[in-house]
Amino acid sequence: VNDPMCWPTRVSLASLNGGEELTGRRREHAATCLRCQAEAVKYRRLRRELAGLGGVVAPAPRGLVAAVLQAIERDPAQAESQVRRAGVAAAGAAAVVAAGTVVVLRRLRGAA
Ligand SMILES: [Zn+2]
Repeated sequence: VNDPMCWPTRVSLASLNGGEELTGRRREHAATCLRCQAEAVKYRRLRRELAGLGGVVAPAPRGLVAAVLQAIERDPAQAESQVRRAGVAAAGAAAVVAAGTVVVLRRLRGAA
């Protein structure tokens, strides 16, 4: 039931830039495979939604600053080490998000 062309076709679908189409055997496969056609629709919709997000900014959670300041007042030494640990984790997460955003933006550039 699982066509061996499904996987390479889906990998191509995921990496197409906006406006690009499948070519060669993958294009032929997608023309006859309903599952890959459904996948292509999903990617088109996802690209459209991401393009519509534009400059959306996610605000910091309410009370975050107050909670951090309180922790520092209660036990400055412990708070400092917690903040340092959280900062390292946050920097790592931010780097991953930034890298992902760059990839998404590059892929969307053709569609925008
Ligand atoms: Zn398929």
